[in-house]
Amino acid sequence: MSERIRILNVPVDMVTTGEALERFKAFLEQEGCDLIVTPNSEIVINAGKNKDLQYAIEQASLVIPDGIGIVYASRILKHPLKERVTGIDFLGKALEHLAKTGGSVFLFGSKPGIAERAGANMQAAYPGLVVAGTRNGYFSPQEEEEILEEINRARPDLLCVALGSPKQELFVLKYQKRLQVKAAIGVGGSLDVWSGELKRAPEFYRRHGLEWLYRLMQEPSRYKRMAALPLFMIRVMFSKKSPVQDFGPEREKD
Ligand code: UDP
Repeated sequence: MSERIRILNVPVDMVTTGEALERFKAFLEQEGCDLIVTPNSEIVINAGKNKDLQYAIEQASLVIPDGIGIVYASRILKHPLKERVTGIDFLGKALEHLAKTGGSVFLFGSKPGIAERAGANMQAAYPGLVVAGTRNGYFSPQEEEEILEEINRARPDLLCVALGSPKQELFVLKYQKRLQVKAAIGVGGSLDVWSGELKRAPEFYRRHGLEWLYRLMQEPSRYKRMAALPLFMIRVMFSKKSPVQDFGPEREKD
């Protein structure tokens, strides 16, 4: 049994990186597509306004505490998360595991050329990793069927969807029953980082929970989106609901 807490009514799993990886390994052993989501404070705030996003997170098989705001919120609510598990670190561990076991990944999203470069860098970092396919993240609704077929033809173990939130979670939710993959994860800007297009925050910023500041310096146009963090912290402080809920890892899939 692993525990799930609720932060502003959004579930988050109390997992360490190691435990999250064990859950991922279990997904690879079972049928159906398990959704992995990595909420930060912006996603939690958006889930309160977007029922579909809320539902996607609600029924995700694994909800990783990605943002530093989530970790602070869990402390304020007196149910501290064991650790922060960033989506990008988790992705690295998942890819490492796939490489060791001859597994494969499909990289879907980001601007043209990014997924290919990210895939090449992933293979260099984790020799043996199979990149079963790549596809950029700019498409019309009419192209979705074709994208689904492309992914299913490649039959990857893991599908990385880098469309930004909530697009990436909603894409998986919409096609979850038809996706012939073992797990799908929304990775936001991670392919940009893997491709070398965007620099990941240096150790200092990561250690002090200041990745948001580094990102803001790289992409100043994000300042409006980042206003979600203080708003989120204020809402958490005023939220009075008991945040704990038991949750077993082995939920049945459709
Ligand atoms: N993106 C995409 N298609 C779209 C919109 C965005 O592929 O229609 C990509 C964008 O190129 C970027 C990624 O989605 O690589 C994630 O963007 P963002 O930085 O907003 O994600 P976050 O990490 O903040 O969730």
